[in-house]
Amino acid sequence: MLRVEQDGLVWYTLASYAGLPVVHGAFTRLGGVSREPFASLNVGGHVGDDPAAVAANHRAIYAALGVDPARVVSARQVHGDRVARVGDADVGRTLEATDALITDAPDVLLVLRFADCVPVWLYDPQHHAIGLAHAGWQGTARCIAAKTVCAMGETFGSRPEDIRAGIGPAIGPCCYEVGTDVIEALRAAIVDAEGLLQQRTPHTAHLDLWRANAVQLSAVGVTHIEVAGLCTACHVDAFYSHRREAGRTGRFAVVAGLEERS
Ligand SMILES: [Zn+2]
Repeated sequence: MLRVEQDGLVWYTLASYAGLPVVHGAFTRLGGVSREPFASLNVGGHVGDDPAAVAANHRAIYAALGVDPARVVSARQVHGDRVARVGDADVGRTLEATDALITDAPDVLLVLRFADCVPVWLYDPQHHAIGLAHAGWQGTARCIAAKTVCAMGETFGSRPEDIRAGIGPAIGPCCYEVGTDVIEALRAAIVDAEGLLQQRTPHTAHLDLWRANAVQLSAVGVTHIEVAGLCTACHVDAFYSHRREAGRTGRFAVVAGLEERS
């Protein structure tokens, strides 16, 4: 990914999206106004942070991107597998119980919140449509990234081979120790999940959620996949990590939107 710094904010963009008519990025925790343990660019409204600080952080992000805040569509993420198509009628809304958003409406900014779960961007340059998914272990076990690709196919006619996928900053295999419940769920969801699990003790393993999502995208025909390889738990200076910070932390913003094509 490429690091962007502007107006005191720092975010990462996909190298493979360079030159595409897409606004996107994974923001870091740098440059906001929230205090510890949410310092400083927290966009999570349900973590105990001051609502005025959270609102100011949102404003700073949209200002840095040059996006009208009234054009944001967001979702209350529940680690499920609901994919929602949104458009002009949804701007300003936060959809209930949704973990992936897709749109072909220009100037709509999709925004989701993260602290270890995997952000997945999906852009179809043929139909000028975009998707953004939130895949923690539960979403991964429910194949949400692949379901979002399928929803783009059904809704916009997107072909998997045209889609440019990006897997953003999330907890890496270096830090993501999981127990029997997660191991069983992943084995049930992914053929040959053993390659994604490094068994450390009889009841624990380290899970590679990045590659799990890449494997699921490949399985439905996506061939262009950029994996950031940035571990949120290794880099709590830059990102929020629910695991590393024992749940007392904020959420960083991940955004995706379409620009008008010239
Ligand atoms: Zn790590």
